[in-house]
Amino acid sequence: MALDKHPHVLGFGMASARSRARLISRLEQLGIQDDRVLEAMNRVPRHMFVDEAMTSRAYDDTALPIGYGQTISQPYIVAQMTSLLLADGEPANVLEIGTGSGYQAAVLAELIDAVYTVERVKPLYELARRRFAELGYRNIRVREAREDILGLPAYGPFDVILVTAGAEQLPTSLYEQMADGGRMIVPVAVPGGGQRLVVVRRQGSSFAREDLDPVSFVPLIEGND
Ligand code: SAH
Repeated sequence: MALDKHPHVLGFGMASARSRARLISRLEQLGIQDDRVLEAMNRVPRHMFVDEAMTSRAYDDTALPIGYGQTISQPYIVAQMTSLLLADGEPANVLEIGTGSGYQAAVLAELIDAVYTVERVKPLYELARRRFAELGYRNIRVREAREDILGLPAYGPFDVILVTAGAEQLPTSLYEQMADGGRMIVPVAVPGGGQRLVVVRRQGSSFAREDLDPVSFVPLIEGND
């Protein structure tokens, strides 16, 4: 790995590098096979994406609170979503909806040329923006979400749209921001409770839905509610 390309790997301790390596082995044991994903997650200092008080738990395979009722996603889920995203070749750009801590966006930025991410909670948006700058991620554009529209239509279309919050229904309003041949990966509520990860593929004007594993994300907020 070229250290000059990753200034953020310099200057943090051996202890966190060891904990991170242990987390990566755990993800492998859990069935994450894509080396690109494992290597990317081994480069991103997750402890920099949580409150200082939470640092000692940063490399546990769990979601952690980040304030404002939100969470940084569980590493296994980040690995799973990122593997899915790469499964059909390498997208040139990606839109993440729900920046949260910024961790998932940083993992994407290790793998993809252009990462766009939007967050509706202003202090989280501001903190993520600062983290990306401090860690030297120049290929992430982070924006504060608009109240009236989901996503970032001005910057699309996107090869992949990754929604990291749980939608009540499939957010079809995002279809027009998907590139032809592109995909959307989104947790959607299922009748009877819980959520499933859903993948939608666009071919021209047709959109094919596939339901995958059960997941658990904080809610996607749509409109002014
Ligand atoms: N990807 C994040 C975890 C996301 S938690 C990480 O790696 O840390 C889900 C986030 O989605 C929350 O921060 C929440 O505020 C945000 N969110 C919910 N609805 C949204 C919307 N409509 N637009 C943008 N962000 C939204």
